[in-house]
Amino acid sequence: MAYKKPERRSLGHHLGAAPHMTAAQFRRDHWTISTRCPRCHLDCWVDLDVVIRLSGGEVKLWNRQARCRRYGCPGRMVFLCTPPGEAAGAFWPLHDPEGRSG
Ligand SMILES: [Zn+2]
Repeated sequence: MAYKKPERRSLGHHLGAAPHMTAAQFRRDHWTISTRCPRCHLDCWVDLDVVIRLSGGEVKLWNRQARCRRYGCPGRMVFLCTPPGEAAGAFWPLHDPEGRSG
């Protein structure tokens, strides 16, 4: 199979691969990752260097949540991504569609 640079692959390819990708793979392929709190709508960039230092390169962000960074907010932040080659500021959720479990 011919190698295709990540930023030249299709959005459908990226979104299909996203559930299985590790933090190290996101960093290697230059994905942009952010978090959003559904409660207070705080948005934060995610530094993959920090994630990898704290949790290891094999950690997967799909369906993971993190405590909201805002003081006093009990919300749980969800992860969002911009795949390589997509416009800055366009985000797709790194989790299964709402209302579906498993
Ligand atoms: Zn919050």
